[in-house]
Amino acid sequence: MAIASETQPQDKTSSEVSAVEKRRWTLNDFDIGKPLGRGKFGHVYLAREKRSNHIVALKVLFKSQLQQSQVEHQLRREVEIQSHLRHPNILSLYGYFYDQKRVYLILEYAAKGEVYKELQKCKYFSERRAATYVASLARALIYCHGKHVIHRDIKPENLLIGAQSELKIADFGWSVHTFNRRRTMCGTLDYLPPEMVESVEHDASVDIWSLGILCYEFLYGVPPFEAKEHSDTYRRIVQVDLKFPPKPIVSSAAKDLIAQMLVKDSSQRLPLHKLLEQPWIVQNAEPSGVYKV
Ligand code: AMP
Repeated sequence: MAIASETQPQDKTSSEVSAVEKRRWTLNDFDIGKPLGRGKFGHVYLAREKRSNHIVALKVLFKSQLQQSQVEHQLRREVEIQSHLRHPNILSLYGYFYDQKRVYLILEYAAKGEVYKELQKCKYFSERRAATYVASLARALIYCHGKHVIHRDIKPENLLIGAQSELKIADFGWSVHTFNRRRTMCGTLDYLPPEMVESVEHDASVDIWSLGILCYEFLYGVPPFEAKEHSDTYRRIVQVDLKFPPKPIVSSAAKDLIAQMLVKDSSQRLPLHKLLEQPWIVQNAEPSGVYKV
């Protein structure tokens, strides 16, 4: 893992190197700093790996809570998938360890916090910012899909911002490694595509739908099928009841792009590599993938 390899002197033999990489982490390897946030199953702290001085985020999960909610299987899958992905727009999972009561995830530190909070602060994003984020996500999802990983839970709450203002997909709790078409119902209702709401088979194109929802929420500040009652959201998703309010003013190129992603027939959704070639993306997304506020 990155932390270990940065501590290795140049003249180590490969067996010594792999011994370092395979070492078991304990809490004593880290200086724990300020709390970064609280999740459903535990807390996240800023931490420094003592040998390398590498700054990380340490996610501390309570086994009892994981067991109570029956999500151990989900966590195992998340760890397995996220630790094998290496992409600038995917939060790295460097490793994990555990003691009697807790599981610790050693995560890349996303210095600029949550996209969700940024969106709350700004209400909605400019087209340049939205396009930069959407293009970054499309690149990250192309990478995931190339490795047969479907994320299935793309939404602002699962996105963090790194020190260079780059977007990072942070939560792989609902992701799945698959060569098959899936039927499982998962994720939050607002972001679910019709085929998942209706529990029919789905594939990687579910992430294109969610990216369309996200693009809409970036530009309008609310997801498109939001309704007071779950049953209404459900109906609006299934009917693809897509409406663009007059305010804030959004270009027709952006609306066109959203409409091309939010298509009921999953095989007709705009493929991600084509999305990157769309004029709205090309004209608005920062080529560096970095949107400086
Ligand atoms: P979670 O349990 O993943 O929902 O995390 C709870 C909160 O901790 C998040 O909402 C973030 O504010 C913060 N957080 C989680 N992971 C990181 C990270 N890698 N870098 C910075 N902050 C994080």
